Amino acid sequence: MSSAIKRHHIDLLDEPVLPINKRGTEILRDPLLNKGTGFPDSERDELGIRGLVPPQVVSIDDQVQRVMDNYRRKTNDLERYIHLEALHDRNETLYYRVLLEHIDELTPIIYTPVVGQACQYFGHIYRRTRGMYFASSNRGYFKEMVNNWPEDEIDIIVITDGSRILGLGDLGSNGMGIPIGKLSLYVACAGIYPCKTLPVMLDVGTNNHDLQNDILYLGEKHNRLTGREFDEMVEEFVNAVTKRWPKVLIQFEDFTNDHAFPLLERYRNRNLCFNDDIQGTGAVALAGILSALRVTGQSLSEQRFIFLGAGSAAVGIADMIVSGMVEEGLCENEARKQFWLFDSQGLVTQNRIDKLAVHKIPYAQSSKSIDSLLEVVRQVKPTALIGVSKQAGAFTEEVIKEMQSHVRRPLIMALSNPTSKSECTAEQAFKWTAGKVLFASGSPFAPVTIEGKVYVPGQGNNMYIFPGVGLGAVSCHSRSVTDSMFYVAAKTLSELVTREELEVGKLYPDLKTIREISSQIAAAVCKVAFEEGLAQIERPENMLEYVKERMYQPHYVPYKAV
Ligand code: NAD
Repeated sequence: MSSAIKRHHIDLLDEPVLPINKRGTEILRDPLLNKGTGFPDSERDELGIRGLVPPQVVSIDDQVQRVMDNYRRKTNDLERYIHLEALHDRNETLYYRVLLEHIDELTPIIYTPVVGQACQYFGHIYRRTRGMYFASSNRGYFKEMVNNWPEDEIDIIVITDGSRILGLGDLGSNGMGIPIGKLSLYVACAGIYPCKTLPVMLDVGTNNHDLQNDILYLGEKHNRLTGREFDEMVEEFVNAVTKRWPKVLIQFEDFTNDHAFPLLERYRNRNLCFNDDIQGTGAVALAGILSALRVTGQSLSEQRFIFLGAGSAAVGIADMIVSGMVEEGLCENEARKQFWLFDSQGLVTQNRIDKLAVHKIPYAQSSKSIDSLLEVVRQVKPTALIGVSKQAGAFTEEVIKEMQSHVRRPLIMALSNPTSKSECTAEQAFKWTAGKVLFASGSPFAPVTIEGKVYVPGQGNNMYIFPGVGLGAVSCHSRSVTDSMFYVAAKTLSELVTREELEVGKLYPDLKTIREISSQIAAAVCKVAFEEGLAQIERPENMLEYVKERMYQPHYVPYKAV
């Protein structure tokens, strides 16, 4: 029994009874209230459930067992996803109990990579609605539509326009699987209450003509709105949701870069919001780097970084490392000089300034153009090589050996997802450096054995960071989410990696401890909110306890008819 689950039993002792004004099938059909076969006899009589479910009263542990038995009989990942989402729509308490007890096994199904497949087939596997859709044809009515949502309190909204779902491109309205998956992780990892989450699809159309021609596609069948129309639609949405829920946190997710960066700039100081692809990715990568520096004993400011790829992940990571270097005393401009970004056109340099996307400009080097990664590695002699290019195999043996000829313990992060797009495999990185590499990847890799020693590659999964940051921000009703909050989140995460884990090459802690990780991060984020004058609650004496007390635990609460 996991420690998180043990805590539920303790909590249960002084659990208040929940007054219910529904009866019978109305309760069974409400996933937030349903206990299925778990209703005790007393509640079956009191709430008119007697006879509507089989006579055996089943414990939640046995219900978990049944779900997992059925899950393991499924023959492919998409079926496993459908099985879990069906449970999500039937009985949320059981769904989160299952998820929390099998977090390692199930997150790749409810989130990346399998959620990508689910999004591709979203219209075809659709069963039941979840979340809200704000479509271009509804413009002018968002303020009224928002009142259709039944809950008066919402803590977190995750919103996408489906324009670049994972590595799969424009999936339009099918991208709804992403906000649903991310919010499931919020509940499982950070204990946000399920009823206080709201997945949102901002349906501005799709440029994916296969979807426009798919009879089962559920979104708007026209090309995407752009420019002013797009901006006005986002603005109408933000105004509508913040009018009804003034303290809500909005997480922007999987928007194309031409919208992701400007949206973040527009709203980050005005509303409580962040972009996980940029800031969350930045913090999780920084945490891995800080863990690696615990091994080498060096400072962040001494590092030289080459990035393969210069998209939202690259710039998000680079910006976060720059914040870390600034914390160590460097000024921003000095810090930026230690970054060399290499994209599909070669090294990002001042020579290309006229054609560079705005987010890359701060990292344009004044050196001459170079179009070979190997050559950049030769000239820069990096201490860290970060892959965020979706170019499988781009970190060749030659590149890695060249890097190692200058540094004893090279840091290599092959972050591109899915596994098939990773810049190198864990096995290659460990073998080519004779075990000297400090390695992390975006997708999971199995442990590697070299000369009898086992190395465990770390996975820089965003779920280490965003749930804790979100929990912290909403727990203290912060006015905004700042870069310092992501910085402390990264620092806290790296400090939670044990000496034993570092010994075997792990740069991230065990995912099984995710609730403890999220609560520690949340407490650290709250402290920053107080220091920066952004918190809107009275300062709690013990921040960690305060945060933990507010976390949802998936157990059946006793009901009482009213
Ligand atoms: P993006 O599309 O914004 O950026 C991709 C970048 O790669 C672009 O700058 C592009 O120019 C560059 N590129 C393309 N071909 C190249 C080539 N041949 N050589 C060099 N550069 C090339 O994508 P993104 O959001 O930045 O994500 C990039 C990758 O990082 C994805 O695979 C994503 O799954 C992964 N990612 C991982 C994590 C994580 O591990 N926690 C988080 C976020 C993103």
